Amino acid sequence: MNPAKIARFGDSERYFICPICHDALHLDGTSLRCADRHTFDIAKQGYVNLMPAAKQSPFYNKESFANRARILEAGYYDHIRDAVLDAIPSAADFAGPYSGERPAILDVGCGEGFYSRAVQRANPQVDVLAFDISKDSIQQAAREDTGMAVKWFVGNLADLPVRDGAIDCVLDVFSPINTAEFHRVMKDDAVVVKVVPGTHHDEQLRELAREQLRNTDYSNEHVIEQFCGHFDVLSMRTVSQTLAMPPADVRTFAHMTPLLFNADIDALDLTQISELTIEARIIVARK
Ligand SMILES: [Zn+2]
Repeated sequence: MNPAKIARFGDSERYFICPICHDALHLDGTSLRCADRHTFDIAKQGYVNLMPAAKQSPFYNKESFANRARILEAGYYDHIRDAVLDAIPSAADFAGPYSGERPAILDVGCGEGFYSRAVQRANPQVDVLAFDISKDSIQQAAREDTGMAVKWFVGNLADLPVRDGAIDCVLDVFSPINTAEFHRVMKDDAVVVKVVPGTHHDEQLRELAREQLRNTDYSNEHVIEQFCGHFDVLSMRTVSQTLAMPPADVRTFAHMTPLLFNADIDALDLTQISELTIEARIIVARK
């Protein structure tokens, strides 16, 4: 295996704990291992599965991740990616009692790794850890990580294989939060960058599927409210763009958006859609 694929796990004891006994994990050859000798091999793509009993979602499979990757790489989410990069503190901002160590960013539910790779590229002096519950998505994310610097792993949001107080910044893009686990892994002065879909996100598709959707009014206010109850909000902004979208991309998009997971996409006349609004709220908060 390419040594660079292993090297990124060289300081694993700083970040990773065994998902079985919660002891520190150390790099041992091409595996991460705890004192009890629970062993997690580094896969050839350059990730480690720290959730041995991972279940696959019927809605997220190789095909849906490939579709998502295609839409993301086509640039429709570039304004959201750029806003995420703006919201992430730079290495210089991670001062205080922990300065001197490499700061660490944890990408929660990273999917195919679009944001993690961008964050790592923009912040080479920062350790980026990224996980998802889906092995397929992590495989794809690691495969496309030409910089081979992101520490990819399969993991469980409800029981993160991450040490207490190891993280300077949690990044959560369109993923669920787990307040207790976020608080546990964050340093005292750490921040969360939380991204939720905006009110107008996908509105053209929602309008088209109106009859099939139980609730076309798309509000994330309760998610935001709940989040604000657990974290000290520093800033909140909305980024939005309405972009022309060719029919092939509309079709791909319709098949990848969680909005239509329970809809009969074949019954929709997707040719009515020629543009789509991609909108997100970006919240920066402290523990
Ligand atoms: Zn163990």
